[in-house]
This record gives sequence, C-alpha cells and structure tokens, in this order.
Amino acid sequence: MSYDAVVVGAGPNGLAAAIELQRNGCSTLLVEAAETVGGAARTEEVTLPGFLHDVGSAVHPLGIGSPFFSSLPLESFGVEWVHPGAPLAHPLLGENAAILERDIEQTAASLGDDGAAWIRRFGPFVEHWDTFITHLLRSPLSPPRSPLLMARLAPLAIRSTPGIANAFRHNQARALLAGNAAHAGTPLTHTLTGAVGATLIVAAHAVGWPFPRGGAGTLTGALAGYFTSIGGVIETGHAVRSLAALPTARATLLALTHGQVANLEDSGLSASFRRRLGRWRYGPGAFKVDWALDGPIPWSDPAVARAGTVHVGGTLEDIVSSEAAPAAGKVSERPFVLLAQPSLFDHSRAPEGKHTAWAYCHVPNGWNGDATDAIEAQIERFAPGFRSRVLSRSSWNTRRLERWDGNLVGGDVNGGALTLNQMVGPARWGLPGYRTPRRDLYLCSASTPPGGGVHGMAGYHGARSALKHTFGLTSV
Ligand SMILES: Cc1cc2nc3c(=O)[nH]c(=O)nc-3n(C[C@H](O)[C@H](O)[C@H](O)COP(=O)(O)OP(=O)(O)OC[C@H]3O[C@@H](n4cnc5c(N)ncnc54)[C@H](O)[C@@H]3O)c2cc1C
Repeated sequence: MSYDAVVVGAGPNGLAAAIELQRNGCSTLLVEAAETVGGAARTEEVTLPGFLHDVGSAVHPLGIGSPFFSSLPLESFGVEWVHPGAPLAHPLLGENAAILERDIEQTAASLGDDGAAWIRRFGPFVEHWDTFITHLLRSPLSPPRSPLLMARLAPLAIRSTPGIANAFRHNQARALLAGNAAHAGTPLTHTLTGAVGATLIVAAHAVGWPFPRGGAGTLTGALAGYFTSIGGVIETGHAVRSLAALPTARATLLALTHGQVANLEDSGLSASFRRRLGRWRYGPGAFKVDWALDGPIPWSDPAVARAGTVHVGGTLEDIVSSEAAPAAGKVSERPFVLLAQPSLFDHSRAPEGKHTAWAYCHVPNGWNGDATDAIEAQIERFAPGFRSRVLSRSSWNTRRLERWDGNLVGGDVNGGALTLNQMVGPARWGLPGYRTPRRDLYLCSASTPPGGGVHGMAGYHGARSALKHTFGLTSV
C-alpha cells in the first residue's frame, strides 16, 4: 500500500498534520506506537474503576485558542469545553488566595492597588487576543502580526520574572505571575519565563483555561474521529524505528522530537544534520501524580475550590527557589506543584461524590526518584487533611512517562528546553523550521515552533510546508 503522505506519532501535532494533509486531498496514513492515539493528551483509568485521569495534558487554554483546532468541526466529534468558576487559584499561607478570574477587571479589583498595573501589563493583549495568539502560534517563516502589539511583549520576554514582578507590590499579583511563568520549566531568573507567564494570564482572561468534558482524550479522540471521517487511515501499535519500515509516500512527516529523529534508522539524513538534531537540549522532567479521592480537596481557603487549576507553591520567592532546583540537578523539598481538579466541574471524571486530582512538579531531566511525598506534603500545607481523602494514587516518574509516550524524553513535557538559544538563537539556526535537507521528510512535533502545548500548530505548519514544497500547492 502506498500513500501520498505518512505521519509518524499520533499526539496533537501528528493528528493535526494528518488532518491538514488529508483535507487538502492527500491520502494520509498516521502511524502510532501506542495502542491508542492522543500522545500526551490521553485519558486513562490509572487508579480505580470509574476514575478518569489525564495522564499528560489536562488544561487547555491553547487548545481552545488554537487557530487550527478552531477551523475543525470538533463539537460534532464530541468536544465540549468545560469552564471552571475561575481559571486559576493560587493559595497563600495566612493570606487570601489569589484568584485569576476570566474577567480582567474582576481580577484587578481583587488585587487591590496592584489592579491598575495588572490591567496596564496584560489588558492590551487581552483586547487584541486573536492577533496576539495568531502571532505567537504562527510559523517562524511567516511575517510578524501587528509588530506594534508584539513590541509591547518584548519587555516581558527579555526580563526575568522577578524583574517584571517588581511592578506589583503584593504577594497575590506577584505569585500569580510567578506561577504562570513557572510553566516554562526554566529558572524564573531566565528571560522568556515572563513571556510564558504573560501568555497564560492573557489566555485566561481572553478564552479561559477549560478542559474538554471527559478529559483530554476527548479532544484527541475527536481529532482522530474527524481524520478518519474524511478518509484518513490510522495504524496503532507500530513503533517506528526505521523509516524503511514505512509504506512508500511522497512525503513523510515526523511528529517526533529532535533527539528521537536523530536516532532513527534509515532516515536518509546527513550525519551533520543528525548531529545538529542530536545536540537538541531537553528541559526538566515532570514528576506526575494522579489521585482518586474520597471527596474534594479540603483547601484552607474555600475560594480555591472555584478554580480548575491551582498553583501550589506559595510566594514568588518560594517559586523562584523551587524552580531553580531542577536546573541544578536537584529536587526541591517544597516543589512548585501545578494541580488540576477537573471532577469539581466535570462529573463524568469520577463516580458520584468522588473526585480526581492531577498534579506535577519539575524534576531534573531523566530523574528516577519518587517525589510523591514532597508533592503531597506541599498540598497538605494549603489543604490540611488532603492525604486522608486519597483512595488511590498513581505516580509517574520521568522514566514511566517516557515509556508511556516516547516523545516525553527524560520526562520533558515540552519537547525541548525553553531557552532563548533554542527558540531563536544559534541552536535553532540550521534547523530550518519544519523542512529537513530531504525534500520528502518533514519535522512537526513540539520540538518545532511554536513548541509545547496542546494546540496542534506545529503539526499544522509542518503539513503546510509539505503541501507547498512536496505537493506544490501554490495557495499555501
Ligand atoms: C504531565 C504532562 C502535563 C501536561 N500538561 C499540559 C496542559 O495542561 N496543557 C497543555 O496544553 N499541554 C500540556 N502538556 C504538554 C502537551 O501534552 C504536549 O506539548 C503535546 O502533547 C505535544 O504534542 P505532540 O503531538 O508534539 O507530542 P505527543 O503528544 O507527545 O505525541 C507523540 C506521539 O508519538 C508517538 N511516538 C513516539 N515515538 C514513536 C515512534 N517511534 N513510532 C511511532 N509513534 C511514536 C507517541 O506514542 C505519542 O503518541 C503536558 C504534558 C505532560 C506529559
């Protein structure tokens, strides 16, 4: 059997690439190592029967904000976005929790005399959200959108998070910024972390931080359903080690991270290009825990139960210290924990009266220890009695995560370290976006722009590149 195109890896980017090719008239085969599609956006019963856990991604501001996903009829394939009462809560010891509301004015009102600075920093991007997100998720080869608006992001991108936080006087605003910036997975004293924090804050105000009802697997299941409905073919249980094992095709797209591509057999890529791919640096690993709970998490501040996502880690200073640890090869005793409590808002996730919780913290890449106690102790500080609600838990160290999805190299959830060097600097030069020196081979995983997250845009841009350069579609 031969196809116009073969895509390897059925995570959000592989699915997006396969859809874009198929809907432009290319017969497309999507090949996946696991028995199910979805990559790091899959929902599984990993604790007790009836408890549905998102092993990888759980909260999807970039999913609802993705220009590519928005172009697909995903509602007809089962996607329903669930918006919690507030996108995010950030509990603080001895003080009111900071709450990031959907509404920027409401958030500002809760931040006291930091409110005006909050609106000044983030308001312009919220107002021009469509331009902002289209710019951030665009192919690096396409011209910048609204240079004036993006120039306002530059001061946030080039300064450290504590530097940006100097605009705020109180713990609430400072902690909200630090917790969002910590999604970058690099020490908060580094550049770019502030831009990551700003993007997530702006997304919360503009489109929210929803979950798909039923879990992340509903979203990737809908992508797969749409792909097969337009004639695409999916083959699961096929771990590709050599490109020679694939059916012939005019174009092959690899939704695999750069290091994995470097190790493929028969790729036909030159030794120097493979060396360049092999030098790609991965970010910290994640240590992940899923819990089945006997009841909701007993937060000391009840306002925290209004939020779908909770940043558990205390003040900006605490988070700066815990996020510095993985880069120094250590695990913080009090790690910054990203937590989601979806069953409070989506009753399909757990049996009646029961709940699920999802959390991870950053650890050194490839770390093989157990951070379950450290994560639970951190949650207990802000929710005394949490452990007594645990019916069952499933812990995922970096090796277990990588066995589950080979793209999570050393437990890195983003496909590569988020550094200036890898985003726009020398490490990126010579890695020409989605193309490789072979005219029929393309890259389109989270290692390619615009990077990690469930948005499918790397897959979409990879497919557009193949449509233009291999299939000669002039309208691309
Ligand atoms: C714990 C965790 C939490 C996260 N939280 C969020 C979140 O809340 N929100 C968010 O937006 N993002 C989140 N992410 C990140 C997000 O899930 C990823 O950035 C995204 O899934 C990347 O998509 P991808 O298609 O490039 O790769 P993946 O989703 O990793 O998919 C890669 C696929 O390729 C397959 N594969 C690998 N090797 C081979 C091979 N040799 N042959 C065939 N198939 C192969 C894998 O099995 C997998 O299915 C999280 C990730 C993790 C792990």
